[in-house]
Amino acid sequence: MSRIRISGLFLALILLCSGCVQTKPAQRQVFAMDTFMSFTAYGKDAEQALTQAEEYIVQLEKNISVTRQDSDIAMLSRVGGAPVQVCQETYDLLTTALSLCDVTDGALDITAYPAVRAWGFTTGEHRVPDHAELTALTEKIDYTAIQMEDASRTVTLPEGMAVDLGAVAKGWAGDRLAYMLRQAGIDSASLSLGGNIQTVGAKPDGSPWRVGIQDPNSSQGASLAVVEVVDMAVVTSGGYERFFEQDEEIYWHIINPETASPARSGVVSTTIVGPWGVDCDALSTALFVMGAEKAADFWRDGLLNFDYVLILEDGSIHITQGLENSFTLANGYTDRKVTVIAP
Ligand code: ADP
Ligand code: MG
Repeated sequence: MSRIRISGLFLALILLCSGCVQTKPAQRQVFAMDTFMSFTAYGKDAEQALTQAEEYIVQLEKNISVTRQDSDIAMLSRVGGAPVQVCQETYDLLTTALSLCDVTDGALDITAYPAVRAWGFTTGEHRVPDHAELTALTEKIDYTAIQMEDASRTVTLPEGMAVDLGAVAKGWAGDRLAYMLRQAGIDSASLSLGGNIQTVGAKPDGSPWRVGIQDPNSSQGASLAVVEVVDMAVVTSGGYERFFEQDEEIYWHIINPETASPARSGVVSTTIVGPWGVDCDALSTALFVMGAEKAADFWRDGLLNFDYVLILEDGSIHITQGLENSFTLANGYTDRKVTVIAP
């Protein structure tokens, strides 16, 4: 056997082995923040990085869970109007969330919780509040009443109000995890936090991650379309995720802060694609509340960097121009009407 052939064989073996190392991912499943999370990361230190990721999620949940009596967030509504000193991360997350409430003109409102509770979404004991109760609830929803004091890191919430970071926390967590993984030298990972997908880099073979968008009417969770992304978050909010039916009406867990009732904007699912998970998460909720027309205006305003896919009640789809080349309808859905929103 010639020397060239031997070294050729040797090279092939090395390539095969390095291929093994590269393509065998570290994986982790976590139940936290009221949802299943699944992390996949590639690279030599991936196992260790995912252990860190898991620890981070557990700690974040302790700080911000609305249902854990001892969390910073639960404390805010429990002390009825007194200032609460919170940890740095809760403070930073609250600050970011409040700026997102502002930028969406209150379509996102982190004080919507009393309404979420009144409709029974926190316990599963669903009910439809009457008109007087809804009017009283709207008065308890007002993120501008939250006072933040940077120097002492204290937060004050008027008595009777409550804060819930459920619409933004998973997106925030995705950003932090992506940062942690990149710091650990990981350049390829996909993190699923409930309806939130956060990607780091591309797939190990260099091709983009393919993220499915669920058909809101499919009980099996079939994908209606796919978006291809690199280093981006993809966050979906859908009315189909948590809802109940009463007298042939469907009521879901995304609340219009102006009415304290489930948002009815003609949109049944929003998917936001962008570089920041927290923005995408906030906007997946806010654009659901806004509806198609206001969503398009908001996107055109360019205050935040993102693209979107909206699925409307009649099954038609709106996508913004930035997704034109990365959005594909799945088999069985190719007859759907897709409107591209231009700047
Ligand atoms: P999910 O958490 O189910 O993926 P979202 O990101 O859309 O969905 O967040 C919805 C959660 O946020 C609700 O369960 C509720 O607790 C809270 N919420 C509902 N409506 C609003 C709103 N308009 N602004 C802020 N938070 C909201
Ligand atoms: Mg959200």
